[in-house]
Amino acid sequence: MKPAAPVADGWARADLEALSAKGLRRVLEPLDSPQGAEVRLGDERLVNFSSNDYLGLAASPAVRAAVLASLERYGVGSGASRLVVGDMVPHQRLEARLARFERAEAVRLFNSGYAANTGIIPALVGPGDAVFSDALNHASLVDGCRLSRARVVVYPHADAAGLARALAETPGRRKLVVTDSVFSMDGDVAPLAELVAACEAHGAALMVDEAHATGVLGARGAGLCEALGLEGRVDLRMGTLSKALGGMGAYVATSRAVADLLVSRARPFVYSTALPPALCAGAECAVDLVEHDPAPRERLWGHIHRFTAGLRALGIPAEARSAIFPVILGEPSRALDAAQRLREAGLLVKAIRPPTVPDGTSRLRFCLSAAHTTGHIDLALEVLRQVGVSRGP
Ligand code: PMP
Repeated sequence: MKPAAPVADGWARADLEALSAKGLRRVLEPLDSPQGAEVRLGDERLVNFSSNDYLGLAASPAVRAAVLASLERYGVGSGASRLVVGDMVPHQRLEARLARFERAEAVRLFNSGYAANTGIIPALVGPGDAVFSDALNHASLVDGCRLSRARVVVYPHADAAGLARALAETPGRRKLVVTDSVFSMDGDVAPLAELVAACEAHGAALMVDEAHATGVLGARGAGLCEALGLEGRVDLRMGTLSKALGGMGAYVATSRAVADLLVSRARPFVYSTALPPALCAGAECAVDLVEHDPAPRERLWGHIHRFTAGLRALGIPAEARSAIFPVILGEPSRALDAAQRLREAGLLVKAIRPPTVPDGTSRLRFCLSAAHTTGHIDLALEVLRQVGVSRGP
């Protein structure tokens, strides 16, 4: 039989071999259960510490019921981009609901966090402008900066003074600063008050990616900006529907004019089919749950504090800042070996390797969820003790 891709197949084989030699080849493994504290993977039942389903909403009965009701009424696909004929009542309802949740003038939906970040930045800045990006920002922000063709200045991680210097030294018609609020691979939190002050001092706009903070931080679960009372001083607050909200998609909370501009200019918004309406109805239900029932968030924070104390007792440095806990091990092979040993003991904790994290910092990344029980948290700590995983390259 002729190869399916006569030229590209040779390229792929060579590249796959090179990736395998460095321990950097990635493979897929399908779960055969909903997301949750315990999942099925082939014949294995594993305690899941790798999902971003921080509040256990991905399989929530209330969210499922909202999705099913909307599915019956609106069908599955949206049929077109929102600007053509894909704009449906559930999209508009969700934007209005999210604007109330975020206490924002306006909200614009995107199909994913990746689409939001790669769409918003080029919609606002371009050649002749400058965009300032934290060194550990998520890949989608990095790609949004590159696509904008603005000058990109990478400032040292979480360094507000470094940012202020860069803002002062760099010419640019418009200046936009972009940062994660909770950094996705380290779980630490941006010094947001200081970043806001630097932006205000230099007339720069600020965009904050709250992907891992929405639902987790803030009294209402609206993220780090809410927790610090900075909502009104951040130009763009981006959040995802795919993590604590348990679904798929993303949004940005901003001014009416910015939200209107994105409709005309953000390419992933203009040129991509709209989200399935039923997922919007599910997200609306999830936002109601997040805002009106603090119990899951409180349970999650109980787990965060318990896990922090337990890791420290094992000699693994940890801080209670978010639901993400890295255990940095160094080379990819060390992280892969550790993940395998944890898996043999019943824990699903994925190894994170370059280019997702810098060379030499391959790690295990634990994500906690309100769906876990304290028993699950204690099991993770006990397995880490038995397996003897300790931090450091
Ligand atoms: N921003 C951050 C900080 C993220 O961690 C992620 C997802 N891993 C995204 C954006 C992209 O979001 P989505 O998965 O909805 O595309």
